[in-house]
Amino acid sequence: MAQNFDIAIRGCGIVGRALALLLANQRLRVALIQTVAPLTTPTQSDVRAYSLNTAARNLLESVRGWPEGVSVTPVLEMQVFGDQGGELNFSAREQGVDALNWMVDVPALEAQLASAVRFQPLITELNGKQADTQTAPLTVICEGRASRTRAELGVTFEVKAYEQHAVAARVSCDLPHGQTARQWFQSGASVAQADILALLPMGGEASHEVALVWSVPPAKAQTLMALNGSDFSKALAEACQHTLGSMTLTGERAVWPLQLAQASPWIGTLPGQPERSFALAGDAAHAMHPLAGQGLNVGLADVAELARVLAEREFWRPLNDLKLLRRYARARQADVKAMAWVTDNLQNLFAQPSPVWQPLRNWGLNAFNHLGPIKRWATANAMR
Ligand SMILES: Cc1cc2nc3c(=O)[nH]c(=O)nc-3n(C[C@H](O)[C@H](O)[C@H](O)COP(=O)(O)OP(=O)(O)OC[C@H]3O[C@@H](n4cnc5c(N)ncnc54)[C@H](O)[C@@H]3O)c2cc1C
Repeated sequence: MAQNFDIAIRGCGIVGRALALLLANQRLRVALIQTVAPLTTPTQSDVRAYSLNTAARNLLESVRGWPEGVSVTPVLEMQVFGDQGGELNFSAREQGVDALNWMVDVPALEAQLASAVRFQPLITELNGKQADTQTAPLTVICEGRASRTRAELGVTFEVKAYEQHAVAARVSCDLPHGQTARQWFQSGASVAQADILALLPMGGEASHEVALVWSVPPAKAQTLMALNGSDFSKALAEACQHTLGSMTLTGERAVWPLQLAQASPWIGTLPGQPERSFALAGDAAHAMHPLAGQGLNVGLADVAELARVLAEREFWRPLNDLKLLRRYARARQADVKAMAWVTDNLQNLFAQPSPVWQPLRNWGLNAFNHLGPIKRWATANAMR
């Protein structure tokens, strides 16, 4: 028998679950549909910790999706190192805030959201087969960058693949992380040899544990993945100049190919069913390089905007109204383009091997570092 819902959400990642909870808070009946994960995503427990901003934190807290305790580490300092002495520092104290952002353990965040969903009676979780019997005027696709439903709808997903893969792992260090996020940009002899290494504090305030995201050329990623734990740890400690002393890999490594991508269109009607509409959100709509830790922040901003547009709709407008959904797409696309532009250009800037670029970008880092009020203003904007 067909089950009727107000909204169907395809994809039970963080973006899909957060949206389901936001919409259920508006008293909408939500079908949350778990579809099969693509093989491009590692299957073991996620080794990453996400850097989340204030807006993401507020949204997750509003739906009881924010984990507690050592799963969340407030970041007090951020240090960015160039490849020729350039350095940029950010500090929460200078900004007049409690934290620049928060590093959140991904499995803890997923578990917290899954538990919030279970306690929300207006959300029904369906598997792929059960989903065939549901009807809803609006389907939101939150299946991540390899979304199958998006492909079935004929939506274009324009992808620029970076010549970099991200190797992620958890590492224990001799020295405490001091609630500081550290990032090194290194160019190589050619664009294809550039790498970006980030050590992100996790495990709570006094911990020695960091989450590693090391974006390197695909061949180097393969080599790093093939090293035994002890050689990997040594190579890592050397690459970050022993800043946190000696290092020990504490679990599995995982690797992600990196890309810049945008879907088009973001909204529309289902083929042959003009009374049913769709919208895309999160990585199903866009993907970007993780160097600025913004992908999920942007995805959560999508669902916040979609929920706002739906809540503020005129009483006579149905949920599948394309004019309504266009408001959402228009509001978000500009923001996403701007963030994608920033991450893409930073990646390009530091990948350039030429002797002209190297001093220039390091001079730029140092110059920006001394720009007091402008730096504070730019940092405040990035933290929102
Ligand atoms: C190394 C790395 C580090 C990152 N660090 C940060 C960070 O610090 N801060 C930040 O904000 N962002 C970060 N990101 C980006 C972040 O991972 C993504 O933006 C975020 O996971 C997107 O969430 P999502 O729910 O849209 O998609 P996903 O997390 O991909 O979830 C999609 C869901 O849909 C299901 N599904 C998938 N595929 C299909 C399919 N074909 N058919 C059906 N269902 C499917 C999946 O099982 C999954 O449950 C990072 C990314 C990488 C690669």
